[in-house]
Amino acid sequence: MHLRCVDCGERHPPALLYACARCGGVLEVAGESGLAAPADPSLRDSMWRDAARLGVLEARHIVSMGEGQTPMRRAPRLEAALPGFRGEIWLKDETRNPSGSFKDRLVSAGLSKALELGARGVVCASSGNAGASTAAYAARAGVPAVIVVPAHTPAGKVTQIAAHGAVLLLVEGHYSRSYDLARGLAERHGFANLTTTFLNPWAVDALKLAGLEIMERLGGVAPDAVLVPTGSGPLVKGVAQGLGLAGAAARLVAVQAAGCAPIVRAFEAGEAAVTAWDMPRTIASGISDPLIGYERDGTYTLRLVRNSGGLAVAVEDDALRRAMRDLARLEGVYAEPTGASPVAALRQMLAAGQLAPEARVVCMITGHGFKDGAAFAEMPARTHRVADPEDLAAVARLCDHALAEKD
Ligand SMILES: *Cc1c(COP(=O)(O)O)cnc(C)c1O
Ligand SMILES: [Zn+2]
Repeated sequence: MHLRCVDCGERHPPALLYACARCGGVLEVAGESGLAAPADPSLRDSMWRDAARLGVLEARHIVSMGEGQTPMRRAPRLEAALPGFRGEIWLKDETRNPSGSFKDRLVSAGLSKALELGARGVVCASSGNAGASTAAYAARAGVPAVIVVPAHTPAGKVTQIAAHGAVLLLVEGHYSRSYDLARGLAERHGFANLTTTFLNPWAVDALKLAGLEIMERLGGVAPDAVLVPTGSGPLVKGVAQGLGLAGAAARLVAVQAAGCAPIVRAFEAGEAAVTAWDMPRTIASGISDPLIGYERDGTYTLRLVRNSGGLAVAVEDDALRRAMRDLARLEGVYAEPTGASPVAALRQMLAAGQLAPEARVVCMITGHGFKDGAAFAEMPARTHRVADPEDLAAVARLCDHALAEKD
């Protein structure tokens, strides 16, 4: 097992490294630990069932809370709600991870390997979810955590991080400023950096299991497309890699918010390289990443998307709200704006003829609605105040009216 640069191919030792020493490129894990399946049944109920494919060499270093192996279901009512659609929609429900987002896959793998390599604490820059995950897993492992997030991060995510006892730093400005600060702090304290862009190869490596899970659930038959909410894009890589390990491939669709879409801009302009985004403005906090200073992460993701014959799609905030509503009301899935973005993209791609009406698609529902309840609070709802609960007849009339309303 070693680390390899995805740009120049340079080999590096299996250490806590965050960029290629030769060209500054993204590093990836080459090889697998071959670790025996853990004896502990609670580990076998997590992604560590496949410990052999990950980078940790000794089971005692594994920090797990049941991440991965998330449910994946057909979404028949959503399928019926999309005009002209005759295909299959599958929801890969990553909200079901321990801290409510797919970041738990990265953090469980990244923290476990960091401890194995001797780290005594962790730092993480985050738009919220990676921070919440890192704080939770650090608590479980009993190691100190410093989490750096933009000051405008949704309250639900900030509260979650603070609850786990992490040192939480709120930084004015966009996510890239938090990213820079976390790099400096990790160096200064000698802590591992669990920032979940492409920075930590041991963390990103675990996302390939999400792709393998998709193939397992679909009985080995590849979907036509997988739609992935995308900031810098590790999950795009993970899905592609996992499908590849199963001998399959699909069109990868990187979904970004129109208010922060550096990868989509480069894709549509036919550019080879991604450039940073100036002023992110979107309700999708999980993918509000302007990539300032690590544009190469975006360029790598762009390459993966193009190589798959896929595309990058930007969705407006109103389309995100509609998708959140669709998921919540048609399928019972409560997702934060970012988590619903694949559903918004699906509607848009069908309307634009970018997806065959009979396609079989997988939507990665990456983050839980509990994390950003305010995003739902603004939506029309069938909520009424009851002044006199003892007047049953009046309340029943109110319900009759409310039940008869069309949304
Ligand atoms: C982090 C995150 C993403 C993806 O962002 P990347 O920077 O591409 O890893 C998508 N959805 C949610 C909910 C997230 O927290
Ligand atoms: Zn390199």
